Amino acid sequence: MNGSKHRVWAEIDMDHLAHNLRQLQHIVPSGTEIMAVVKADAYGHGVSGIAKRLEDEGVGFFAVADVDEAVALRRRSIRGEILVLGYTATNRLRDIVKYSLTQTAVGAEDAERLQAYGAPMKIHVKIDTGLGRLGESFEHLDRILSMYRHSRLQVTGTFSHLASADQGEAEGKAFTIAQIRRFQDILGQIRNAGYDPGRLHIQSSYGILNYEVKGMDFVRPGIALYGLLSSDGDETRSVVDLRPVLSLKATVVLVKKVHEGETIGYGGSFMASRSSIVATLSVGYADGIARKLSERGGCVLIRGQRARIVGKICMDQMLVDVTDIADVRQGDIATLIGEDGGQMVTAGEWAWRTETITNEIVASIGSRVERVYISKGHPAF
Ligand SMILES: *Cc1c(COP(=O)(O)O)cnc(C)c1O
Repeated sequence: MNGSKHRVWAEIDMDHLAHNLRQLQHIVPSGTEIMAVVKADAYGHGVSGIAKRLEDEGVGFFAVADVDEAVALRRRSIRGEILVLGYTATNRLRDIVKYSLTQTAVGAEDAERLQAYGAPMKIHVKIDTGLGRLGESFEHLDRILSMYRHSRLQVTGTFSHLASADQGEAEGKAFTIAQIRRFQDILGQIRNAGYDPGRLHIQSSYGILNYEVKGMDFVRPGIALYGLLSSDGDETRSVVDLRPVLSLKATVVLVKKVHEGETIGYGGSFMASRSSIVATLSVGYADGIARKLSERGGCVLIRGQRARIVGKICMDQMLVDVTDIADVRQGDIATLIGEDGGQMVTAGEWAWRTETITNEIVASIGSRVERVYISKGHPAF
């Protein structure tokens, strides 16, 4: 389809995105809304198209990693609320105010710094209930309460983040339940002290899929919105029909015969054990293809069949063995992630082959990969 005018492209299925959103809306308690996590260029899916469609679908709150990502959303005319999940340097707070963003206060001293900036600002207070990353410790009640007292800071929300919501074993479950309890205890104490914690949220994708937390105003899904679990085999309490949003494609640019015993690629690491046909694809590690995939059995789909990656993956190109696929030609489309002729290669497969999670796979897709938005099989914009 759309393809071959780009060297390598990601097809982003907007209908699958909307479907995944509805699936998640369906399992959260009524009154709990979706805060869509669109950091890291919407997990590599291209934030402008993703945020626009989510806003069209009624999502009113977005979360990003930093102020630059937030400003980029405003410049793309996203009007909903935007929470900056991470730290913002003092010399960038101007943009928090100017673009009407909500800044996370990552600790009590951080809130003092935000207050000292001198302009009114909306913040969400972050509580560390056990992840040990950002947030004021749940053990420091006085320090937490101080964050609600600043004259220029309007606390519109309070949140935490779970460490082990994806884990099925008893230990991970006990830890998650303890984190949720710590959060709820702290909220009670904040209210008892006469402060309003604002809108509340603690669950990201696995928190949503594995736990029911009452009284939350938002949930913060990232990976599940994009139709993926972090690992293929993960079982979740709520079973939802997630549909992968992203497919990654490139073009066959050259097909050649290789004699038995001939080596190909850098370092001659692959030697043809038989007389072979090899295709060169217009995609490489600078596009986000892990070099490890070639020695870990990685495959792509060409003409609905699997073709094994051979030789070292290069910066802009890679080689695949197409000896057993009839009639491969220049201009054929190679599907690196996605479906072709009933066959699938999933981000989950890449993840287990390279010992990572799908979050890293999709977020690593390079900036020079064209994002092509599709709806009902056609270009969406
Ligand atoms: C990235 C992130 C999320 C989304 O996590 P997923 O596991 O992708 O759903 C939610 N909250 C915070 C604070 C995050 O950093």
